[in-house]
Amino acid sequence: MTVQRAGSRGRVAVVGSGISGLAAALRLELTGHQVELIEAEETLGGRFGVARLGDRPVMTGGKNIGRRYSAFRAFTAELGVDAYESFGYNASRIKDGKVLTLDSERRGQTLKNIRAMGSTRDVARMAAMAARIRMDDTNRFLGSRYFTRLSRRHDRAPLSSYFGRQMTEMLVRPMVIRNNGAEPDEVYPGTFGTNLAMLMDHYDQLGGGIQPALDAMAKRVTVRLGTRVEGLVIRGGRVTGLTVSEHGAPAEELGYDGVVLATPAYATAKIVGSERPSLGRRLADVRYFPATVVLVEYDRPMFTREVRALAMDDGPCSNAGSYGMEERHIVRYTYSGRGGRLTDLSPANIDALTSRTEEVLRTHLGAPRAERVATLVKHWDAAYSGYLPLHADFLAEVRGAVSALPGLELAGDYIQGVCIEACCRSGNAAAARLASYVAGAR
Ligand SMILES: Cc1cc2nc3c(=O)[nH]c(=O)nc-3n(C[C@H](O)[C@H](O)[C@H](O)COP(=O)(O)OP(=O)(O)OC[C@H]3O[C@@H](n4cnc5c(N)ncnc54)[C@H](O)[C@@H]3O)c2cc1C
Repeated sequence: MTVQRAGSRGRVAVVGSGISGLAAALRLELTGHQVELIEAEETLGGRFGVARLGDRPVMTGGKNIGRRYSAFRAFTAELGVDAYESFGYNASRIKDGKVLTLDSERRGQTLKNIRAMGSTRDVARMAAMAARIRMDDTNRFLGSRYFTRLSRRHDRAPLSSYFGRQMTEMLVRPMVIRNNGAEPDEVYPGTFGTNLAMLMDHYDQLGGGIQPALDAMAKRVTVRLGTRVEGLVIRGGRVTGLTVSEHGAPAEELGYDGVVLATPAYATAKIVGSERPSLGRRLADVRYFPATVVLVEYDRPMFTREVRALAMDDGPCSNAGSYGMEERHIVRYTYSGRGGRLTDLSPANIDALTSRTEEVLRTHLGAPRAERVATLVKHWDAAYSGYLPLHADFLAEVRGAVSALPGLELAGDYIQGVCIEACCRSGNAAAARLASYVAGAR
């Protein structure tokens, strides 16, 4: 499907074409490796979730790009794609019938609204974490020194015990549902820095979506779509290849100088499990939570420029937001969190759920009675990682097991965090380590 480049520094495989794998593949290609990007699905992009709503290409997964996403922005710039347009961080809550908006462009009002959401102790705790994040960039990602220390003190109980009830319900819950698809009693204080950092950024979107970057990527490396990796080939204590099944055919062995597994933890667990069962079991501990995204195009805007998203507590729909700053006639309904783990995806149920949320938007935001023009439903069984208690200790264990297996590197959402920037950084780091191993081994 693509032009194959003659890499002189060795032949490597990157498994998984989400942002973790794309970043690893591009970094390895730039350092002169011949790269094969192996993807089980028939399209590139993983949880970017590229799809079509009527005639237009859309993204059903990750699409908001923070101003501080420097690694991801460097990745798209390298591919000649940099049509970013402002989106902001905009999320409203309803408290005592009043709409409270958190907006990255209106920081003063946002701070006032946060103060109205919790006790003095909770606001002070939140402020202390925010100060650490501002002071030291590593606190935006999993495994930082500050949050590791915090995890050792507080991860025996979930996040819902760390903050008081009001702060948990008003601010913490929408944040962890949005970023992890989890409830505050399903995640831990030691990983909360990744959530708070998301609130402290300002967001853009790629005007033309991620597809132009995926197309550019497919010209840079060899892409194998519809190819599922089933296991590692280990010879002489080193990873020397993969067993793969292409389009359901019997598994065959492919040889490589090195491999990056840029797959979610549960998928990585399956690939490494037969050769390294204890590593496989440990990776399988990482929890993932589901989500369903319903995109609806209307015949008129449903939101205003000032209020572009509403987080909700009491329904299966956790968040309704406009697709873009100017595309307020397309609404993205996200069903996540305990009440939003949908099992009935029938058109009748989706229609009923959408009607119910439209009513909420009309009641609280004065949204119009608009006609639906097109609807798209995307369900993710494992949409977001929710990490583990004492996650930094888990990461150290995994790192130890992987460093005993030369030729293998791991990337993915459970290593630095679920946001696109964290995944991108995990891919870059894995690629750098693999490049140095391949150089030494040749
Ligand atoms: C609905 C939703 C909205 C989000 N919104 C945002 C947002 O606005 N901003 C943000 O920063 N983040 C957002 N995120 C998070 C972010 O999009 C994801 O965490 C990130 O895209 C994950 O990338 P990844 O490469 O680690 O994993 P994936 O994108 O899941 O890629 C892994 C790939 O590996 C493939 N694979 C798995 N097993 C195998 C195998 N055995 N063989 C071959 N291939 C295999 C899969 O098919 C998949 O394509 C969102 C996530 C979701 C689900």
